[in-house]
Amino acid sequence: MSLRRFLPALALLLFAAPIVTAAPPLKALIVDGQMNKWHPGTAVTPVLKSCLEQTKLFEVDVATSPAAGEDMSGFAPDFKAYDVVVLNYDGDEWSAATKKAFVDYVRGGGGVVIYHSADNAFPKWPEFNEMIAVGGWGNRSETEGVYIRWRDGKMVTDAKPGKAGSHGPQHAYQLVVLAPEHPVTKGLPEKFMHSADELYDSLRGPAKNVTVLATAFSSPDQRGTGENEPMLMAIDFGKGRVFHTTLGHAGEQLQSVAFIVTYQRGTEWAATGKVTQAVPDDFPGPDEPSVRK
Ligand code: ZN
Repeated sequence: MSLRRFLPALALLLFAAPIVTAAPPLKALIVDGQMNKWHPGTAVTPVLKSCLEQTKLFEVDVATSPAAGEDMSGFAPDFKAYDVVVLNYDGDEWSAATKKAFVDYVRGGGGVVIYHSADNAFPKWPEFNEMIAVGGWGNRSETEGVYIRWRDGKMVTDAKPGKAGSHGPQHAYQLVVLAPEHPVTKGLPEKFMHSADELYDSLRGPAKNVTVLATAFSSPDQRGTGENEPMLMAIDFGKGRVFHTTLGHAGEQLQSVAFIVTYQRGTEWAATGKVTQAVPDDFPGPDEPSVRK
């Protein structure tokens, strides 16, 4: 190659290279620091972070709160600097100012992901209960709202009195997609297996503006309800979007491709309203779970 031809090629290489290595377009914040005694909390944050980074779509920061019982008044993440906030948190109340900033962020169009037992958090915070649609434990009951039920091909709510939040022993189970045209679930098989995990049942809450993306059958043989329980949900809150996944108890369960891929897609949707990710070849079908070790 002559020098005259080589120089433009070199220039192209130099100027094009930064585009290839540019920072990922979306900013995500994982909030952790306190968790109930049944879950690893901060110990799985690196996994939640890495799952998002693998998509090459997210630059991920972590905001860790003070420990339980410590002064929370200075805990004030800059939510509005992010496209999506992932909650891996169940602990002390945030300050009134931080709660207001979070509500304003979501109402204004911010994205939120509720990861597994983060739906146990803040049982007496009405806006939070609206964001997550339904939650469990924390002494929730009919006071916080209804059960979501899927009967005769449509979503209904059930206001009968009762506790909120339960699960039987861990087992592998099948998810059934109910919203095949939603960006999060579009292109996924109608039925796919999740590896052994808790199957949350009897969550309850306001259940407003919620699309149930996928359910799983809570079998009485596994101390379940005999109902098709909501597992993946998409909630509109103001201009914001919330993706709620009940999957992923701890590190081992986070290796399930059913968890990983729905979490990656749900987080992108919460951030932008769209999903650009392809469904990977190892995504499970209806019979066998798929696990990434
Ligand atoms: Zn759990």
